[in-house]
Amino acid sequence: MNRKKILVTGGAGFIGSHLCERLLKEGNEVLCLDNYFTGSKENVIHLLENPYFELIRHDVVHPFHVDVDEIYNLACPASPVHYQYNAIKTIKTSVMGAINMLGLAKRLKAKVLQASTSEVYGDPHVHPQPESYWGNVNPIGIRSCYDEGKRCAETLFMDYHRQNGVKIKIVRIFNTYGPNMNPADGRVVSNFIVQALKGEDITIYGDGTQTRSFQYVDDLVEAMIRMMGTGDSFIGPVNTGNPGEFTMLELANLILELTGSKSKLVFRPLPSDDPKQRRPDISLAKEKLGWEPKVPLREGLIKTIAYFDDKLKQ
Ligand code: NAD
Ligand code: UDP
Repeated sequence: MNRKKILVTGGAGFIGSHLCERLLKEGNEVLCLDNYFTGSKENVIHLLENPYFELIRHDVVHPFHVDVDEIYNLACPASPVHYQYNAIKTIKTSVMGAINMLGLAKRLKAKVLQASTSEVYGDPHVHPQPESYWGNVNPIGIRSCYDEGKRCAETLFMDYHRQNGVKIKIVRIFNTYGPNMNPADGRVVSNFIVQALKGEDITIYGDGTQTRSFQYVDDLVEAMIRMMGTGDSFIGPVNTGNPGEFTMLELANLILELTGSKSKLVFRPLPSDDPKQRRPDISLAKEKLGWEPKVPLREGLIKTIAYFDDKLKQ
């Protein structure tokens, strides 16, 4: 069997752990690289008994040499609380991490996929967001370390491709949720579920009318693998997300219903530069990847609630 060797940076994180599991299931050899800033060995501990899985502690801001066929570059804190904790480190991770992984791909003639984000669209004036939209990003705000870091990483990917012929793929990921999210991560789905399960107040930032589109992690992993499998002529960027759009109030009420919780909604100040609306236009993913999300929010939340319920009992 022709086993591919695949490097997943940020592999011990929420999305990375699901990706590693799926790539192993498909018979690949997986090298999971992580510095455990927001990820955890617990997310991948069950994979350690597989002889084709390897866990490596490393920080992507430093060069890394290994012989692989494909690289999925996911290393980067993703929740506002964590990426703002050390903003300079966040931008270094995006930019130097991209340079190091692109350099590695160039030397090896390997394919490299960048986990980019809907944050490249900032607080969008075009709705829903197609890949052709250049975005509305504040370059000097508290979210810039993440947004501009990811935008610069996309630039680097395109320039390594144009200048050095590196085989790249860029995926713009919209809000994704599911098991293995860090309960202390600060993102809205994990916050609301943990608060509801503990009977604590549900913290709505602003008036709760801002919208997001939530994608279940299995749908995302499917899209990423399909994207990596496309021919050299399609490099993206391609949006991956679930076009179902919900206000934070709707999300909170759905989580209250599904958990049967008596938690109360409380209103907190809206963080600055918080996008008012977000929904992916997924026409390109449908056309090029033959992909669309399969898991509706209600179904995905039921699985995620079960995960957090177990986790809180441990
Ligand atoms: P996560 O925080 O769970 O995972 C990120 C992983 O990267 C963690 O395991 C962390 O320890 C690791 N990491 C951070 N800095 C590192 C460094 N310098 N060197 C090595 N490892 C490092 O977040 P996630 O939700 O799984 O996000 C994974 C990727 O997907 C990120 O690049 C993120 O920007 C992108 N993304 C996620 C979402 C989402 O909604 N979850 C949306 C858009 C983009
Ligand atoms: N949010 C909220 N309560 C929380 C956490 C987040 O109302 O406890 C809001 C946040 O202000 C934003 C939305 O939920 O409008 C999504 O936030 P998240 O941090 O999950 O993702 P992002 O803002 O990066 O899309």
